[in-house]
Amino acid sequence: MQIIDANTAAEIFYGYEQLRGRCISTINTLTPEEILREMKAARSRKRNFFRLRHRLASGSIRDVHVYSGPINHEGRVLLHSNIEDMTPLYAFQKELEAYRDQLEWLPIGVYRATPGPVGVMISVNQAMCEILEVDAKADLIGRRASDFHPTPAAREELSSLIVNSGGVRRIERKLVSARGRQIYALLSVSITEEADGERFFEGSIQDITARKRAEIQRESAFRRLHNALDAAPIPIMLHRVDGAIEQVNAVWCNLTGYDKDELKTVAEWTRLAYGDRSGEVRAHIETLQHEYDTVDEGDYTIRCKDGSTRIWAFYSSALESPGQPDGMIMSTAVDVTAQRAQQQQERQAEAILQSAAEGITVTGPDRNIQRVNPSFTRITGYAMADVVGKNPRVLSSGRQDSAFYESMWQQIDQYGNWQGEIWNRRKNGEVYPEWLSISAIHDAKGNLINYAAVFTDLTELRQFQSSLQSLRRYDPLTGLANKATLLEWATQAIKVATRNRKGLALLAFGLDRFHLINETFGHKAGDNLLRQLAEQMKCVAGEDADIARIGGDHFALLVPDSSDDRALSDFLLRLRGISTHPFQVDQKTAITLSFSTGVAQYPVDAQTAVELLRGAETAMFQAKRHNPGLHTFLDGTTTASTQQRLLLEIDLRQAIENDQIEVYFQPVVSVADGRIIGAEGLARWQHPELGPVSPETFISIAEESGLIGALTETLLSKAAKRMADLCQRYSRPLRLAFNISAIQLNQSDFVEKILHELRAAGLAPTSFELELTESTLMQRVSDATDILAALREHGVSISIDDFGTGYSSLAYLQEIKAQTLKIDKRFIASCPTDKASGQLVRSIIAMGHALGMQLIAEGVETQAHLDFLRKLHCEFYQGYLFSKPLPFADFETLLSKEQHE
Ligand code: C2E
Ligand code: CA
Ligand code: CA
Repeated sequence: MQIIDANTAAEIFYGYEQLRGRCISTINTLTPEEILREMKAARSRKRNFFRLRHRLASGSIRDVHVYSGPINHEGRVLLHSNIEDMTPLYAFQKELEAYRDQLEWLPIGVYRATPGPVGVMISVNQAMCEILEVDAKADLIGRRASDFHPTPAAREELSSLIVNSGGVRRIERKLVSARGRQIYALLSVSITEEADGERFFEGSIQDITARKRAEIQRESAFRRLHNALDAAPIPIMLHRVDGAIEQVNAVWCNLTGYDKDELKTVAEWTRLAYGDRSGEVRAHIETLQHEYDTVDEGDYTIRCKDGSTRIWAFYSSALESPGQPDGMIMSTAVDVTAQRAQQQQERQAEAILQSAAEGITVTGPDRNIQRVNPSFTRITGYAMADVVGKNPRVLSSGRQDSAFYESMWQQIDQYGNWQGEIWNRRKNGEVYPEWLSISAIHDAKGNLINYAAVFTDLTELRQFQSSLQSLRRYDPLTGLANKATLLEWATQAIKVATRNRKGLALLAFGLDRFHLINETFGHKAGDNLLRQLAEQMKCVAGEDADIARIGGDHFALLVPDSSDDRALSDFLLRLRGISTHPFQVDQKTAITLSFSTGVAQYPVDAQTAVELLRGAETAMFQAKRHNPGLHTFLDGTTTASTQQRLLLEIDLRQAIENDQIEVYFQPVVSVADGRIIGAEGLARWQHPELGPVSPETFISIAEESGLIGALTETLLSKAAKRMADLCQRYSRPLRLAFNISAIQLNQSDFVEKILHELRAAGLAPTSFELELTESTLMQRVSDATDILAALREHGVSISIDDFGTGYSSLAYLQEIKAQTLKIDKRFIASCPTDKASGQLVRSIIAMGHALGMQLIAEGVETQAHLDFLRKLHCEFYQGYLFSKPLPFADFETLLSKEQHE
């Protein structure tokens, strides 16, 4: 075989000087016969090429593919060949072979299989034998790889996956080895195509059984832990350091009301549970993540879904790899809400016990003393050690008999409590009255565990009340008799005069324009002047004369026998002399006084003491009006005297009709924070001629003339409307306190009238407080109880005015269920400088609190008053310090200022 022709490309490739004419074996490693055999073999395999090794001029050997075919040339058959240099490919294949060798020793099973769903393995490596537990490779060759799948279904599923998607990568499947062992395997299968176009499956199997077993074990351990945590009776949360919550248990969700779905991250949890504080709490949690130890984090107040709060004590610890992003933290909590509330209560109870102004005794069910408080020691003189273990009988004064104690204990056992006044004996032997309240204390199951006795020392109150009794007869400023005493004297004198068939006269005199002196020189100077005047009067009338001070600047004198006209006029003349007498107002100023006098006589002008006084006063008012500085006798006829009285009444009636009587508002203020809680409505009358008339004066005229009903109605309607308006405008609850005269409690439709006015004004009855003076209550005990009960039922509160000046029995105050006590301004005035008044106010407050009432102090004029009241926990106050009674517009300004603060 000889080369006849060759193209330039061939010339260049082989590098010989001349290819043409050379024998084919020059470039071949095979003999021509061998070449022909290769050619035939290719043809029989239907291939259009065959592989040869050609030698180049340079001596190097190349792998070539030869595409050869016969052609006809001038009657001769020639062979025409295209040569393709395949050396790089074969070099690569060789490398691949070497690589296959390495595969042999890989720990991963590798095989090659014929294609198609029923392909069989044609080569495997050693690892395949080991994984599938066969002795020799020969045991695998010719078998299907899928034979090792556990079920025909699994087999099919995988084959179709491979065929459809051209292979699979890293699928986990369970296999069964030749010896029946279960294998977890990681499978990859790909379809490869050889250079000659043949296709194969090439697959790998990695035995991951050990890893898989460990994983499964870990998972089931986790599941068990998860279930255990979920069933745990306390709240538990597992979360990762990166903030993802792995688990919150059922108790956690039940107690807080949040769903598991809402609690996916620590940030979500802290936002829901801590609101504004969540950042702070999260920062704290982050510091915990580096500790393996359990950390006691203390109490946290968390917010539940329904808005309620709970207190949880948290304990946290790192479960795994602290500090790493996948580290796990376990937080457990104990719900201590009830416990803490209990502890708080105990602490509060202890603080109250220690600081209470009242004496407190706690006994066991056997009634023996278990403990007492510091006030107990202060009041009784017994230290705790003196009395612990003893029966409270050690304090007994012997003033109450055993029947008294028996009924007391009977009531405690039956109703759980008793209150009343008893006499006890101090350690130093002194007997004293106390207001005692005993309650039985039961545990949650209803067993009796303690008795608690709370008592207030009433000594000072009783002492004060008896000194007040003398005050009730005499005017403290001038030492003269007061109005009540004067009336007593007059009643007596009328009896004597009637017996002796004689007449008597009553003189009333009032200083003209005394208010100017007060305004110019101050109240102190005014008081001083009144004292000097009283002295002068005693001088003129004689030490034993019946002189009284019946009102601010009004005095009266009883002339027992007026049958002697000369004696009376003589008397009047001497009194007039006083007006020429100079009075010292202060060190520099002396002035003279003018006063108007009215005279009424028995039996011509009046029949009773009250009528007599009223007559004299009417005459005096008349004198003031028409001839100030002169005396006015009531005309001898009854008609005339009624007319005079009518004059004043008419003025008042007109004033009411013309709506000339105004309501002023004096703010009632909280002692604790200085906020206005409401106001007392006070009547004001500006008389066109007399100027401002004191409510004390015209209210009493209204009471006597039956005008009080109409007056109250118009004032209440006005006050209630304005207060209702303010409540609405400032949307806050304000309380209106309103004074009611004793006489009004007699009206049959009193309750309906009050409720009607409130309704018409749109003021809630709960915003209304009815003020009754202590003395009013004393006058009409029986019917008042029912009337007040009816009002209370509608929500109206009852307040006792001027408390401390009357003789209310404490039991009665309890019976009418007054909510508020108003401490009279006289007591406040001398507080806290005067020790006795201070003590008294202290005990009124303690007692009021013991009876469950709130206290309002009246007449608070100085900061010292207020500071004193604050110390005693008095709730509210009224007085010039905060504000005088104000016209409505000014009161509103005050309120709006407060609102905008
Ligand atoms: P009250 O009910 O005890 O009223 C308190 C009195 O104390 C008022 O006198 C008030 O102006 C005065 N006051 C307030 N703060 C101070 C203070 O800091 N120092 C001093 N020294 N006094 C202060 P007011 O307005 O002259 O009324 C006198 C009495 O007239 C009232 O005493 C009340 O009993 C009666 N009253 C007034 N308005 C009415 C009314 O509309 N109806 C009835 N039935 N009685 C009324
Ligand atoms: Ca009042
Ligand atoms: Ca008062």
